[in-house]
Amino acid sequence: MQLKQLIAIAVIAISIYACKEDNSAEVDLEKEQAEIVEEEKILEFGFDIKNYRVKRDTIKSGDSFGEIMQRNNIGYPNIFQIAEVTKDTFDIRKLHPGRPYTLLYSKESEKDSLPSPSTFIYQPNQEEYVVIGLKDSIHAYKSRKPITYVEKTATGIIESSISKTLEDKGLSQRLAYKMADEIYAWTIDFRRLQKGDRFKVIYTDKYIDDTIYAGIQNVKAAYFEHNGDSLYAFQFETDSIHNIRDYFNEEAKNLRRAFLKAPVQFSRISSRYNLKRRIAHYGYRIKAHRGTDFAAPNGTPILATASGTVTRSGYGTGNGKFVKIRHNATYETQYLHMSRRKVKVGEFVKQGDVIGYVGSTGSSSGNHVCYRFWKNGKEVDPFKQKLPEAKPISDSLKVKYLEHIKPIKQQLDNIFFLEAQPKETENTITEDPIL
Ligand SMILES: [Zn+2]
Repeated sequence: MQLKQLIAIAVIAISIYACKEDNSAEVDLEKEQAEIVEEEKILEFGFDIKNYRVKRDTIKSGDSFGEIMQRNNIGYPNIFQIAEVTKDTFDIRKLHPGRPYTLLYSKESEKDSLPSPSTFIYQPNQEEYVVIGLKDSIHAYKSRKPITYVEKTATGIIESSISKTLEDKGLSQRLAYKMADEIYAWTIDFRRLQKGDRFKVIYTDKYIDDTIYAGIQNVKAAYFEHNGDSLYAFQFETDSIHNIRDYFNEEAKNLRRAFLKAPVQFSRISSRYNLKRRIAHYGYRIKAHRGTDFAAPNGTPILATASGTVTRSGYGTGNGKFVKIRHNATYETQYLHMSRRKVKVGEFVKQGDVIGYVGSTGSSSGNHVCYRFWKNGKEVDPFKQKLPEAKPISDSLKVKYLEHIKPIKQQLDNIFFLEAQPKETENTITEDPIL
């Protein structure tokens, strides 16, 4: 009530003010009033919820649509009819325990001795809902809660690790994943970040119904200072038909490389390419390790890091079960110690295809894949190579790209590293419209 009075006073105040102004101000006033009326409607699932009595619950284990209806005074002949009419839109047998549902009753139903709901709303997931009209004309439809995306920016300075930096700032770990595995996978080794490395990101958060946080949707642009290098990354759609987006730097160079960073997902490097390695396995004598070992559980799929033709698929006492792929005149890759091979010599494989599974065959002391990278017939360290770009931007798109990133780069450059500022100035910076 108090709020309404306040609004009324405000409206009067605006009216008085408007009288002194020209017509355009009066138009504004009308808009103002329309907005006030709009705010009084509390819409949920498309219903003005204050016109109903609302009952909310969740599906219990063992609950069925029929039982829920019966509990709420809708009898069996009706339930069958509802099921029949709505079956093309929603299968009432597919109610999952734990998911919420809402029953709407008319205000008049309060007077009934056995009130029954007019509407049943079920939420199979956070975004979607199913509405079943239970009375008069029985009907059903599916809809979605409104989704909003909010653009945000963040900065961080690495103290010990990127996850720690994100955690300290209350930011999602997904930002680390996005930067390490999608954006900078080929340009920065996130296992070797240094204290003082720092970053800025512009990303979008997703919200359902304006209130439910549904995670980071996308990173639009990023900037990373590592080892004295400044690395910009801007997302750009190069193929709108196939919805292909890549990250490019400020000179339109693709940050993705023609090779995957690792032949196994979610693995850890257990041993790097090292020409002077001494290990117990060889009595601590120098025995060059010309591969990179990725430790992963037995049976983990091994992926071709680039497209090419299988030139070898066999067994060796040292290599165990292995596969070798030729990608072009320059590059070949080889994958050792597999538990099982999945491809034959002569087969063409695409980047990311499964060519075998992690094992410990041959000279190996645990489950891992030894990944060997050949350049012009020599084994080299893929992490030290300037690998070819995945797909250079076309000349026609390059102009468009450079135009596109101009304001975004400016936006990035105008974000300050907050940690470097004294505490008092932080507030004024947050008020800056750029942030
Ligand atoms: Zn190895």
